[in-house]
Amino acid sequence: MRIHFHGAAGEVTGSLHLVEAAGRRILLDCGMIQGSPEQEARNAEPFSFDPASIDALVLSHAHIDHIGRVPLLVKRGFRGPIFAQAATADLMPIMLLDAASLAENDAERANRRRANGVPEIVPLYLREDVVDAVKQVRKIDYDTRTTIVPGIDITFRDAGHILGSCIVELWADGKKLVFSGDLGPKGTPILRDPTPIAQADLVLMESTYGDRNHRERLETIHELGEIFARAHAEKGNVLIPAFAVGRSQELLYWFAQNYDAWELSRWHIFLDSPMASKVMHVYERHTELFDEQARAVWRKTPLPFKLPNLHISESVDDSMAINRFEGGAIIIAGSGMANGGRIVHHLKHNLGRRNAHVVFPGYQAQGTLGRRLVDGARWVRIHGKDYRVNAQRHTIGGLSAHADQHGLLEWYGQFEGAPPVALVHGEDKAREALAGEIHERYGREVFLARPGSFIDA
Ligand SMILES: [Zn+2]
Repeated sequence: MRIHFHGAAGEVTGSLHLVEAAGRRILLDCGMIQGSPEQEARNAEPFSFDPASIDALVLSHAHIDHIGRVPLLVKRGFRGPIFAQAATADLMPIMLLDAASLAENDAERANRRRANGVPEIVPLYLREDVVDAVKQVRKIDYDTRTTIVPGIDITFRDAGHILGSCIVELWADGKKLVFSGDLGPKGTPILRDPTPIAQADLVLMESTYGDRNHRERLETIHELGEIFARAHAEKGNVLIPAFAVGRSQELLYWFAQNYDAWELSRWHIFLDSPMASKVMHVYERHTELFDEQARAVWRKTPLPFKLPNLHISESVDDSMAINRFEGGAIIIAGSGMANGGRIVHHLKHNLGRRNAHVVFPGYQAQGTLGRRLVDGARWVRIHGKDYRVNAQRHTIGGLSAHADQHGLLEWYGQFEGAPPVALVHGEDKAREALAGEIHERYGREVFLARPGSFIDA
């Protein structure tokens, strides 16, 4: 069995790994590269393999950096089955249709500003390409060993990262590969903890937070309450860039749990994301995947996400109407790294205000607007215009959907005999730190996957 690395090898987005085994070619994930415009331009480049030569695609979870290039793969000739956990399969069209709309809008905006003689910008793919791609999806439940092509079996195990997220166990040629996908931290509300796996001949492991440990979740929740109190005293708005899947639901869950303690009734709370609202319905359809505590909450309150003062803005007009709030609004909107989506418009309106608070509850990749803000930029350029940043910025580390260094080491430590491991899905600083720890604790040399490199199991 040979694994070729084509994406998320030395960076955090664009997950794409090719497994050659049993005379077949299987892809693990086919994600979008996210970051600066230059980095994102790489999505349009040809794949470094022929899509028609791939026998099957296996998806770890529905985040766009793991599934975002699937319609492109299909458009360019991939005709095989796409295997996904049932909730992932339900989330996939929501995520991909949104990505297609964003790409169409971006292209339209760029073309409007295009100088004479410059070739027209074509979106990466269209909504109809998404419709074509999802027809190839086949659902697999957790913990069900399935033959995906002759000679290759897989089992999905809960990765505890977002709803439907999977660790993939793959058997072929008498060997067993375990792909971590993205691993959640223990104790994420709503979700179960990542499944421990005992045996592997090779582990592909994510390393997003390989160099740091998160703050305690409860400490973070406390901090969030304090930010709300301060913003209320200063009569400002609170903006929270959040991914539509996972983070938005977790925030609403915490809001519901702390509604009285944080005096949330004095705020207008906006979930400015038609996508997050669609995702909420998928959560409500898949309560069987919740952990014990969340199931108990759901039994008591049929729709715990629906706060009395929660406004879900579906239309663009609804979204623009939020701009008239100069204070008193908590706005949750995508994208999670502020490199697109409705949050960008709210940032334009609020960044200049000293009493505005921007709360970053998740990872901000290099090259994104979110990262520039987190890094303390005094000026940022948005849609060709410069904006002065006076707003207060907060990074609250404890809500991450990713396991931290401690969690990653603990998960790896559950394998018997410290199997060979290749680190993917992490910037070099994070991977090197994690590799150092693995070597020190388990005496195992670690392979740092590079684009174009491969490893044999
Ligand atoms: Zn993810």
